Parts: sequence; C-alpha cells; structure tokens
Amino acid sequence: MFSKILIANRGEIAVRIIKTCRRMGIATVVVYSEADADSLAVSMADETVFIGPSPANQSYLVAEKIIAACKATGAEAVHPGFGFLSEKAEFARQCAEAGIVFIGPNPDAIDAMGDKIQSKLFAARANINIVPGHIGEIDDTAHAVRISEEIGYPVMIKASAGGGGKGIRVAWNRRDVEEGFPAVKAEAKGAFGDDRIFIEKFIVNPRHIEIQVLGDKHGHVIHLFERECSIQRRNQKVIEEAPSPLLDAETRAAMGAQAVALAQAVHYDSAGTVEFVAGQDKSFYFLEMNTRLQVEHPVTELITGVDLVEQMLRSAAGEPLSFGQSDLSIKGWAMESRIYAEDPYRKFLPSIGRLSRYKTPAEGDQGGYIVRNDTGVREGDEISTFYDPMIAKLCAWAPDRSGAIAGMARALEDLHIEGPGHNTAFLSAVMDQTRFASGELSTNYIKDEFPDGFSGLDPQPWQADVIMAAGIHMHRIQAARARSIGGSLSPLNHRLEWAVVAGGLRRDVTVSDLEGVTIIAIPGEGRSICLDSVVWKPGDALFSGKVDGRAFTATVANAPEGFTIRFRAVRQRVLVMTPMSADLHQRLPEKTPPDTSRLVVSPMPGLVVSMDVVEGEEVKEGQVICVIEAMKMQNIIRAERDGKIGSLGAKAGDSVAADDVLAQFA
Ligand code: ADP
Ligand code: ADP
Ligand code: MG
Repeated sequence: MFSKILIANRGEIAVRIIKTCRRMGIATVVVYSEADADSLAVSMADETVFIGPSPANQSYLVAEKIIAACKATGAEAVHPGFGFLSEKAEFARQCAEAGIVFIGPNPDAIDAMGDKIQSKLFAARANINIVPGHIGEIDDTAHAVRISEEIGYPVMIKASAGGGGKGIRVAWNRRDVEEGFPAVKAEAKGAFGDDRIFIEKFIVNPRHIEIQVLGDKHGHVIHLFERECSIQRRNQKVIEEAPSPLLDAETRAAMGAQAVALAQAVHYDSAGTVEFVAGQDKSFYFLEMNTRLQVEHPVTELITGVDLVEQMLRSAAGEPLSFGQSDLSIKGWAMESRIYAEDPYRKFLPSIGRLSRYKTPAEGDQGGYIVRNDTGVREGDEISTFYDPMIAKLCAWAPDRSGAIAGMARALEDLHIEGPGHNTAFLSAVMDQTRFASGELSTNYIKDEFPDGFSGLDPQPWQADVIMAAGIHMHRIQAARARSIGGSLSPLNHRLEWAVVAGGLRRDVTVSDLEGVTIIAIPGEGRSICLDSVVWKPGDALFSGKVDGRAFTATVANAPEGFTIRFRAVRQRVLVMTPMSADLHQRLPEKTPPDTSRLVVSPMPGLVVSMDVVEGEEVKEGQVICVIEAMKMQNIIRAERDGKIGSLGAKAGDSVAADDVLAQFA
C-alpha cells in the first residue's frame, strides 16, 4: 500500500478521501488554489501545495502542476476525486510516465468510456441496450435539425464530453434545436473545452438508475448494486438513494450483469458507474459510464459497508479484490441529499456568498437511523463562482426506506445555513411528499410536483402546531425579558390568552405551564397541544423541542413585530399578540407590494453573454431577452409576457448582480 498520496481535488471530496487515508495510515498531500487557501481540506491534509489562481484551468486542471506537486512531496499516487482531471486519460498517462500511480481506471478504459459518443459505440458492440439516436458528431445547426427530425421529437442534444448535467438540452421541436444546438455547443466549449455534440431520443418520464462497479488489476469485476438518482433539476441529481424502489431482484441482476460485462470489456480496474435510463416498465438503456468515483457513492457505502475510496486505493496498489459478488448484499436503505448553494424559490439558480452560519446535524447513530454528512466547508467559508456550488452531501441510513426518509427529514431540520441561498427547504419538501414516499419517481418529478416552481409547502396539521408552539414560546420569553428589563418581576404565565397569526391564519389559544410542559389549548378546535423539551434562547437560529411527544427542530428569526419560522418546507411569518391587538391588526389595510411585472431582472449574478432585444422592440412571451452565463452555464432569460421593450438595463459583456434590471417593458 502507498505511504503518501496526493489529492488533486478540493472541497468535500478531498475531505472524504483524507478520512479514508487517515484510517489506513496513508499520509495526504492536498493541492489548492488561491480561493481554497483556508479550506477545510487544506487544514486537514498532512501537506499542502499551492498550485495557482482560482480558475480551475489555471490550477486544478493543470496536469503539469499536479505532477510537479507529487514529485516535490514524494507522493506515490494521485487520487483525482471527481470532476477536474478525473476522467482525463491523458492525465492518467502523464502520471504513469512520471512514475506516479493514478488512483482510477487504466487510461484505455477512460478513453473507451470517458466520452459519451465513444462509449455508446462501444456498448452497442458489446450488446448492451443503448438509447436510440445518432451516435456520431453533429456538424452544424442544419445537420442537428435533420438528425432530430430523423430520430423524431423529443430529442436530447448532448455534449459528448459532458458531465454534471451541463451540456445537455431537450428539444421538443425544430425551434428548440435551432436555439439549443448552438447553446449546448458554446456551453460544452466553455465547460469542457470540447464541443462535439450528438443527439439521441429523449426518453419521456424515465428514471435514472445506475450500477456501481468495482474492478482490480487481476481481471475481477463485481457490482455493488444500484442507486436511483431520478430526483433531478437541470438534468443534475439532487436526491439519490440505494437501492432503487423500482427494481426487483431479477432486473437488478440483469442490470448488474450488463454493467459488469461492459466494465469487463474495457478491463476496468477501479471504481466506476454505469448509468442507465429506465422506463417505468423496468426496461433500461445504457446512458454513459463514469470512470471515476461518483458524487453519490456514499449511499452505496451505507448499504454495502464497503469503503469505495479504500477499494480504489487497494486496486491502484495492485491488490486483488478481497471479496466476490456473493459476499455482497444490500443492507437497509440510504438516502443522499445534495445541499447546494442555489435558490429553490428562484428556479434553483446558483447563489453565492459567505456561509455566515453553518451548523450541521449530529452524525452517527441517532437511534433508529444513521446520519453521515460529507462536507468541505465550515462556517465563515465562501461559496465562490469558481467551482461547483455544492455545500454538502447529507445522508441518512435506516433499515427500510420509510425510516431513511424520516431520518433524512430530521437531519435536514438540524441543518442551518445562512449566507448564500440554499435548497434545504426544497429537500425537506420532497421528504414530506406522499408521492416520494410511494417510490413513484421519475426524472420529471420536480417538474411534475412543482410546475410553477418551488414556493414552499402548506403546513400539515402537526407542522402548523409546531410553528404555532415555537412562536408562542419565543414570544413569551421575549415578553418576559422585556418586562424584567423594565424592573418588574414577571412569571412566564403572566398572560394566558394569546392570538397567533401564522401564514395569515389566526388561532386564539390559552397557554398554561405544568411541570416544564407548556399546554396550549385551542378552544376553537376543541383540543390542546403540549410543548416540552425546548432548546432555544433568544438569538438562537434553531429551535428544538417536542410537540405532542414528537421531536422537531425549526429555523427561527426575528421579523418586524414577530418571527419568521421555517419548519421543513413551510416558511411563515408568525405574530403572537393579545387577542385585542389581533382584532385591531385585522383591520389594518394590506400593504400592496410594488409592481415588478414590467421588469425583467437577472435571476442570478453573472455575465451578460448577449442582449437579444433592442429598445422599442415588440417581443412575444417566451422570446429570448438575453443570455447570462453563471457557474459555467448559459441561462436563457425569456420574456414572461408579450409587450414592447421600453429600456435596457444591461448590454453584452456587463456583469450583473441578482435582481439587476436587464430590461423594462414600456
Ligand atoms: P455524478 O454523476 O458523480 O453523480 P454529476 O453528474 O452531478 O455527478 O456531476 C458529474 C461530474 O461533473 C462530477 O464529477 C462533478 O464533480 C463534475 N462537475 C460538475 N460541475 C462542475 C464544475 N463546475 N467544475 C468541475 N467539475 C464539475
Ligand atoms: P451527465 O454526464 O451530465 O451526467 P447524462 O448523459 O448522464 O449526463 O444525463 C444526465 C441526465 O439527463 C440523466 O440522469 C437523465 O435524467 C437525463 N437524460 C439523459 N439522457 C436522456 C435521455 N435520452 N432521455 C431522457 N433523459 C435523459
Ligand atoms: Mg450522468
């Protein structure tokens, strides 16, 4: 085994690899760019090497710098993590030439599988089911239209070198192809430096199911069952689980056998993933093979007990696999939520900024479920535009699927992030949905369930009780404090009757305390609820306790004359008042928000690539106003209504902030 390795990556995956190395007694070297100088990975590594400016193409993507860092530190091997150099066969070859072991598959396997066009041709020859389409390069827009019409709409335009959901677009008609082909080409060039494009049939309403494979240098290949990754936005995974609720033992075995056959055909000798799109009828088609460790590998580790990073290290060091297919079985169920710095309330657009607060749930056995949080950041760190906006991967394991969902829902409650926008409330919403619980997943899930975008969920009855109870508790403590500052003694139960307005609904209650339990009677509903085990003091952002014996944690903040409380996917303004002030309050006129329907604003910070309208132009709903590049993605901003453009707020080449006005209707 190696005594020292270098990790050519950053963030959570660098931290993840360090953890296994520590356990195995292997020293680690971490390379870092300017932006990552104070990162968690850097603080955990045994040695570090600075490799240059923040943009990845001047640091993490420069093979020569990585190899020089290995030589300077005496690292015997390089783990590339995912992204960056992980699927660059050329890099693997350069390592070999320099006498450094690449901790991943052999370069020929990367060449054969690391490219979507090549791998499909290869898979077709190996008799693996592939998605129908034109598996070859497309020359230009006219060619793209011709091919799309031959295949029949809908089609998917894909960058052969694509990854991470980038360089992919669905086209339902000719116009989509004419617009999408150049956009995908530009995106592919920018993100991957390779603009080869192909087109395949778009499978409607499919599921994404993938098989984890593992090989060694002695010709053994096994699989570690499947992961289902159907919960996606922008063709990028957000929630993954293992096993898949769709598969039966027979389909699992068939998919596993195809994945192993494909891996064997390329003499695969490391951890890798064979991705499939599956129909609801359990038919399945090969999509691509990722010749690296996969982002969502923790769910497989949780159900098999195998440490995939350890296995990659062992294979790379030439050890034969120490177990076979029959030694593996699926134990329990695991979920992963990708915590992203993105705003679910604004079409999941990336959000950046400093993590002014970052508190994570307790890991390990929580009594009935296990929590694992793979993260690469700490409170105070910056989520920058330079890299992937993933903050953490939060996982929950339980003996069965419903336990894993419940565990994930609880773990998400205990996650507290302030600074950049984040998708925690959205993830909680999915955990609370009956469709998710039923396992009827599809890659359209988010579009189906949130057709008008995400705006939170309405509270379920117990959730409304939690929000009300937390509001009452906080209000009473703050009121008692205010009075004691005034000098008079004030027991908590100074007042019994309160009116609580939450989410615009008023409930009148009577509050009393008995042996540490707060009893909230709701005469209008003929029932009462109990609040106890409260952990909260003024200024805390997390409020935990039990309502009717069930534990919860809500995120709370002071708001003008009340609180903002978020519990799971419900976010409400909560006012606690005397019944008399509530009567008065109800007579106040509603404030009308300013009319912003005439404005087209930038949904995110970014660079205006093109302004596609001019002042005075009549536009139709859906017409392209401009294109904004952010996080290496081209985002098309469209008119949301018909009208005449009065003035423009930006031009091509401008940098814009979120909410900057791009154009104004006359
Ligand atoms: P996986 O297939 O492993 O679940 P994704 O499909 O989400 O992961 O992402 C594919 C790969 O693209 C990952 O290795 C991810 O790290 C990488 N990736 C995504 N965005 C970026 C980026 N902005 N820069 C570099 N690599 C990226
Ligand atoms: P990436 O390299 O970005 O992971 P993939 O080819 O794996 O690209 O596709 C990403 C996602 O896009 C898939 O998980 C799936 O949801 C969707 N997708 C890809 N190809 C198709 C297709 N032919 N039909 C339907 N959905 C597809
Ligand atoms: Mg993929």
